[in-house]
Amino acid sequence: MKHIIAIDGPAAAGKSTVAKKLAADLGYTYIDTGAMYRAVALACLDRGIPLADEKCCGEIAASCHIALKPVAEGCLVMLDGEDVTEKIRIPLIAQGASKVSAIPAVRQALVAKQRQMAEDCNVVVEGRDIGTIVFPEADCKIFLSASLEKRAARRYEEFKKKGNDIPLADVTAEMAERDERDSCRDHSPLKQAEDAVYLDSSNLTLAQVVAFVKKQMTGEK
Ligand code: C5P
Repeated sequence: MKHIIAIDGPAAAGKSTVAKKLAADLGYTYIDTGAMYRAVALACLDRGIPLADEKCCGEIAASCHIALKPVAEGCLVMLDGEDVTEKIRIPLIAQGASKVSAIPAVRQALVAKQRQMAEDCNVVVEGRDIGTIVFPEADCKIFLSASLEKRAARRYEEFKKKGNDIPLADVTAEMAERDERDSCRDHSPLKQAEDAVYLDSSNLTLAQVVAFVKKQMTGEK
């Protein structure tokens, strides 16, 4: 029987790092659904399509080809054959993803792709609506969060390491705005599934979070 681990939560709560480590440890396929919304935002912006144009954004989401190619560090994000892994990791695209992800037609197209990707393999899937909408039947559901200060500081350090010195105040503001939009939208808002386990990663190491999720998988207390 195939297994699905769903990890939801706000931006920079540690979902990607934890999901990648779990996938590597367990030999599961890692699915980064946020990267898919980012890829659609990039595709729309590259074509000059306003992100408020629901019809065109929906058509792009349905017609573009997004593939997540497994590599040792996680996955490469391929958009219509182009490697956009790095291109989608900037604040402009994060905001764009948050805008296009509120469009029902975009969500419909990407949710279908996500279900297809998980059809015949064990998966660790991270996002905002995985436990509620995409895979309500997931074997293990985690809602991972952390304080806004911690999350913004983590993202700030990530940007800095890549030589992108964005002021901490800007990173914090961008993140707060995105979380607010993601939580308040009408369709598939960011929210904890009733049967998900909540974990605050503010003061935990990666190893502690991974150990926690593994315990949840085995039902160990
Ligand atoms: O996880 P990440 O920060 O890369 O996601 C970018 C954006 O994509 C989020 O802010 C959210 O608006 C959207 N998203 C979503 N549903 C998902 C994953 C991401 O709406 N399952």
